[in-house]
Amino acid sequence: MMPTVADKYEINPDKLSEVIKRAVEKYVRNPYVMAEISNRHIHISRVDLDALFGEGYELTPMKELLPGQYACDETVAVVGRKGRFERVRLLAPIRGKTQLEISMTDSFLLGVEAPVNISGDLRSAATVAIENPQNGAKIERACAIVALRHIHLSLEFAKRYGLRDQQVVAVEFEGPRAVTFGNVLLRVSKDFTDEMHLDIDEANAGGIKNGDYGRIIV
Ligand SMILES: [Zn+2]
Repeated sequence: MMPTVADKYEINPDKLSEVIKRAVEKYVRNPYVMAEISNRHIHISRVDLDALFGEGYELTPMKELLPGQYACDETVAVVGRKGRFERVRLLAPIRGKTQLEISMTDSFLLGVEAPVNISGDLRSAATVAIENPQNGAKIERACAIVALRHIHLSLEFAKRYGLRDQQVVAVEFEGPRAVTFGNVLLRVSKDFTDEMHLDIDEANAGGIKNGDYGRIIV
């Protein structure tokens, strides 16, 4: 009789099916999600865009990030008590309020105390100056936050794995700097693709690159 693969590697088929079953169960309960790493950026309001670029200025979308959300050609300088960042990218579409998202390292470099907030929550946001170096226009806004780490999920993904909007999960990344992030907020919307947003500090802490996968732990 021809030896089978199972014989060759001394695999017991009964045991094998058990291993596969466990792996599948683990995957179903703890799905993987792709990491997207965001550098510091600004969501800008109509009023502030007018003040910096001129009345009625239209942003120039360059690269789609999430469906309908774009990184734009336009950049500004951001200035704090201690430091200054050139070429901070503006995002489209415009929002109700200007929001600067930075990492914790950025907040030290700028010399501001930016709170860790859910995107959209500007309570206790740090004050920075925003400049358009092209024309010298300058505004000052309490708008700087460190975005709470979060995952954008489509309705399908959330439904398939029994996850819901505003749920808090952990996410585990493997590798030489294996790390598990706690307090990860799920944001579910029909407008989202499935991705976990990390800032550069978080990504570097885990040696995580764009497109790496982490496992959601409920
Ligand atoms: Zn996000």
